[in-house]
Amino acid sequence: MPTKKAAEPRWTQNVATSFRRSSAYCTHFLLVGGAHPAKTETWHLRPDFMLFSEIRGHSRVLQLLIRVMRTDRLAHAYLFSGPDGIGKATVAGEMAASLLCTEKSSLDPCGHCPGCRQYDSGNHPDFLHVQPDGVSIKIDQIRNLKKQLAFSPFAGGIRVILIEEAQTMRREAANSLLKLLEEPPPDNLFLLIAADAEPILPTILSRCQVLAFAPLADDIAAEIIGIYSPELDGQASLMLAKLSGGCPGRALTMDAGDVLPLRDQVVAAVFESRWSTPRAVEEALFLAREMAGLNNGLDLLLDLLRLFFKDGMLESLQVKPQPQSTVDDPKDSLLLRERWNLSQLSDKMRAIDAAGKALARNCNRALVCEVLMLDLIGN
Ligand SMILES: [Zn+2]
Repeated sequence: MPTKKAAEPRWTQNVATSFRRSSAYCTHFLLVGGAHPAKTETWHLRPDFMLFSEIRGHSRVLQLLIRVMRTDRLAHAYLFSGPDGIGKATVAGEMAASLLCTEKSSLDPCGHCPGCRQYDSGNHPDFLHVQPDGVSIKIDQIRNLKKQLAFSPFAGGIRVILIEEAQTMRREAANSLLKLLEEPPPDNLFLLIAADAEPILPTILSRCQVLAFAPLADDIAAEIIGIYSPELDGQASLMLAKLSGGCPGRALTMDAGDVLPLRDQVVAAVFESRWSTPRAVEEALFLAREMAGLNNGLDLLLDLLRLFFKDGMLESLQVKPQPQSTVDDPKDSLLLRERWNLSQLSDKMRAIDAAGKALARNCNRALVCEVLMLDLIGN
């Protein structure tokens, strides 16, 4: 099962060049206070073929939004809650793009009107973007926002105020925002995004329509990962989707470029170890050195190997191939069932867990990897 190696180690570098909205889209937003932190670079990246109507997953949330947008019954404030990387910002970004387009024939922005061009360039005067200044959203940022909302939208339509990581607002900032939400100026739409709604003041929550985003199914998350990282094959996308817990944005931050090929090599070595013990040991020790040389990717590799053996256990139990299994090669599936029983597969997973714990205790990396590889190729 070959896995194509990423041309660039970071997915953001890979995809940035292929985006119509390009890097300007990342950096030219009208920021309300605070610098642009690199960690939020990814939220608004949009493939040039992605339209509001083409967002994958989140059908319940999208159906609601589409209905109110079509019938012009938008609430004045929404809070999108759900884990990081799940797609909240993508939906918010596409919603803003749609609302700021002045010539659309459907909900999808036309892409060429002045509103679309300004939004795409990150310079739309009616799109205000608030994100944490450091670790939190400060009261000065909300005060700045208030000043800007004193004027009507420049283009005469709607103004969209996107507040990222709203859960980081301190009490003073939250109270200041609450006043805006209690008496919202006309033609303004607040979109708040939060990984967790619980820290947000109940009074703010009561002024927003809260839409909870649930983790995506593995196949949908894998499809999204494949769109943003076309260098990955289907199996690699599925593995990352599973590890991300249905949050493709989280998967795309995994630095998997060097890890995926090594995972394939380890799996192949584990299978081959049955035929040639001396060669298998030599290969295992070589791979152990490769593993130890991974900088931040070793934890990800362990997760991928754990996933392989876990899916292998499911294959063994179900006999038939599982639709979302990462053991997608029928030959591997058969070999896996012939080679190990459930107890042996469980031992493999325990060996991986033990390696993870040893690494967490700062045990000798090379030694931990050698012990793990010898455990994995053993019966
Ligand atoms: Zn347009």
